[in-house]
Amino acid sequence: MISRLTLADLAVHGAHQKGHFSLSSGLHSGDYLQCALFLANPVRAERAGQELAQAITAAMIEPDAIVAPALGGMIIGHETARAFKVPFLFTERVEGRMALRRGFGVGPRQAIVVVEDVVTTGGSTNEVIDLIESLGGCVIGVASLVNRSGSDNPFEPRPYTALLQVSFPTWKPKECPLCRQGKPLVKPGSRPVK
Ligand code: ZN
Repeated sequence: MISRLTLADLAVHGAHQKGHFSLSSGLHSGDYLQCALFLANPVRAERAGQELAQAITAAMIEPDAIVAPALGGMIIGHETARAFKVPFLFTERVEGRMALRRGFGVGPRQAIVVVEDVVTTGGSTNEVIDLIESLGGCVIGVASLVNRSGSDNPFEPRPYTALLQVSFPTWKPKECPLCRQGKPLVKPGSRPVK
């Protein structure tokens, strides 16, 4: 694993925040990652794509195409595709299900890598893997900027590489020590909740 990306890099751009958060999984955590704030700068995004491409080359074979789950994976996926000079397959959610955008398809012998910004449970990534395989494509591996899944590789037996692996505690709301301290709870993407 390459650790050219650090938590400090993310924190300085507000992409790693400390506090008391309700994650989309329903769990509470004292740490929140919002990689979009890091990737909002195109120069940083391009560099991150180049580093992820190097990590992919080291961990698996070079892909023929990159695909990423909408919406979080789109920028880093596109920048990784740029580094390899291969096509980027756009995805979208249609009625809650992951789909390729109209006009995109996969070839039978195309080696495809799924790229994500942050892997937490791996749910969106697995949806994209299932989608590509249902279309007859071949997913040769997974790569992300950050792995906060708590596992070295939640996608086994497929190869997986990340620029940064972090371990943040998460709790069920009932067991959350921050709730017990009475710390205000923030649901990212919405206004503070009580
Ligand atoms: Zn809590």
